[in-house]
Parts: sequence; C-alpha cells; structure tokens
Amino acid sequence: MTTVIDGKAVAASVIETVKSATRTLESETGVRAGLAVVIVGDDPASHAYVSSKSKMAKECGFLSIQHTLPNETSQQDLAKLVADLNADPEIHGILVQLPLPKPLQSEPIIQSVLPEKDVDGLHVVNAGKLATGDLEGGLVSCTPAGAMVFVRRTYGEDLSGLNAVVVGRSNLFGKPMSALLLAANATVTTAHSRTKDLPAVCRDADILVAAVGRPEMIKADWVKPGAMVIDVGINRVPAPERGEGKTKLVGDVAFEECAKIASVITPVPGGVGPMTIAMLMANTIIAAYRKAGRKPPK
Ligand code: NDP
Repeated sequence: MTTVIDGKAVAASVIETVKSATRTLESETGVRAGLAVVIVGDDPASHAYVSSKSKMAKECGFLSIQHTLPNETSQQDLAKLVADLNADPEIHGILVQLPLPKPLQSEPIIQSVLPEKDVDGLHVVNAGKLATGDLEGGLVSCTPAGAMVFVRRTYGEDLSGLNAVVVGRSNLFGKPMSALLLAANATVTTAHSRTKDLPAVCRDADILVAAVGRPEMIKADWVKPGAMVIDVGINRVPAPERGEGKTKLVGDVAFEECAKIASVITPVPGGVGPMTIAMLMANTIIAAYRKAGRKPPK
C-alpha cells in the first residue's frame, strides 16, 4: 500500500506547535513574535501568497504587519524599509515577497535582511550555516525545511545508508534540500539539467525529490520500487477534461503511475505546498525565541 502524504494535515500539526510555542513565549517572557511581510507591486499571485502568510501569522498569535508598496517603489525606498524593520525590536521575522517587479534587484534586498530575521532562509549567512552543517544556529529555507518534515516522519532523524536524489539545484530549494539530507546522513546526489542519464540516477534513490518546474517529468520507471517520492514542482497545465480553457496544477512527478511504484509519495496540490507557509511560521517563532534568549522548540 502506498502512503499519500497529506501535506495539509502535517502543516496543521506544525501550526499547532507554533501556536502553543507563541503562547508560551508570550506568557513567560512578555515577547510576542512579530512577522513583517513586504510586497511590492500588484502581481495577483504574489498578493494571494502574501495575504495567506499574513493571515496565518495572525492565526498563530503573532504581531503580523504587512507593507504593501507600489510598483514604482525605488530600490532605496525598499532598502530603507528593510533597514527600519531590521531595527524594529517588535519584528522577529522579515519576508520580502519574491519576485520583485522590474527593475528592482532582489539579491541586495535579500542580503540586507538581518540573518537572524531572515525567515525565508535566503541570506548567505543562513545558507552558509546550513552548508557547514550548523542546523541549530541559522534559519533554513521554508520549502526544503517542510519537505524534511515529511522525510523525518517517514524515516526518522537518521538517514544512514539511504540514497537521496534531489533533482534541481536552485538556491531556494535544491541546494538547501541536498544539504539537509546530507546533514541527516543520507548519501546525496544533486541532479540538474546537465545530469547524464537522469532516469538511471533517479532509480538509485530511496528518497527522490523533484524540484524542476517541468510537468510530470518523473515517470514510473525512474522510481525505485518502495522509494519515497517528494514532488515540489508546481506547474499549471491545460485541463480540457474540466472544460474549455480550464487549467489544473500538477507536479514534476507523474503522480498516478509513480504512486504504484513508490511506498510514500506527496501529491500536488496538497503535499509540499502547504508546508512552506507552516515552516515560515516555524522560522518566525524560532527567531523570536532566540531573540528572547530562549532555546527554540523542536
Ligand atoms: P528553478 O527554476 O530555480 O530550478 C529548477 C532546477 O531544475 C534547476 O536546477 C535546473 O537545472 C533543473 N532542471 C530544469 N530542467 C531540467 C531537466 N530537464 N532535467 C533535470 N533538471 C532540470 O526552480 P525552483 O527550484 O525555484 O523550483 C522548482 C519547482 O518547485 C517549480 O515548479 C516551483 O514552482 C516549485 N516550488 C514550489 C514551492 C512550494 O511548494 N512552496 C517553493 C519553491 C519552488 P540547471 O540548474 O542545470 O538549470
């Protein structure tokens, strides 16, 4: 029997832990965790993401601040806002929604967020801590952190002896995911567009993670029987079966056929996706505990 992971349920349990940690921190220290979300421009998808992040932050009991800036915001004005949030003692986490509208440069903005408030885990200090195996001191990028929750719930903390293959090497997902699996003692291969014989590389994986952005690229004969398959891809494709002009979301994994081979698999939607916001909340409460001089909850 294949287990299909219910990402919404796992995310809900992470959120319950965050809520309880938020109450404990406030009652014991008077510190209320604060998350500031910054959005520039009017991209509807980005606005939808930001409003769910702000809403979830409120539900967790955080001080939730949203800064909505117009399309024509200058690099200097955005940098000034980040500097103000860096200096604000009530704010423990800062998230600047990406991508930024042109011609704004995202990299200088990402790197200007204080590492201890970088709840997206994108600052080079946090990426460096992860790369050097310092999992306690930094903040980890939310989507790979969420995917690791699934891995831990399936295999436990120690992945000794297991082969993991991550397809994709982005700074946002592929690289931090590989680093997390390595830190948990898996033997890790990071594959990408220049990898030779990708199906054979994938067939070696006990844990196969796909973060490519190509609809249903991973086929059943790429999957080792009994493997865990984690699908990070989010691709909108035409769905004529639902009516003219209709679309649907699919992952990077051909779900129906791969589910017959894998022992554990994540669906799209409803797998990794819901974990991203949950881990953003988890990172914010971790940042708030550290600022209060407390050990963050596990
Ligand atoms: P990027 O476009 O930054 O990276 C894609 C990676 O896939 C690259 O490393 C690229 O290789 C590799 N790749 C592309 N084509 C192939 C191929 N044919 N064979 C092997 N490797 C290939 O994407 P992201 O990492 O940001 O995102 C990947 C997917 O995950 C997207 O669908 C995105 O929407 C989704 N996503 C979902 C999130 C969520 O659930 N919340 C969060 C983040 C991402 P190379 O480096 O050689 O070009």
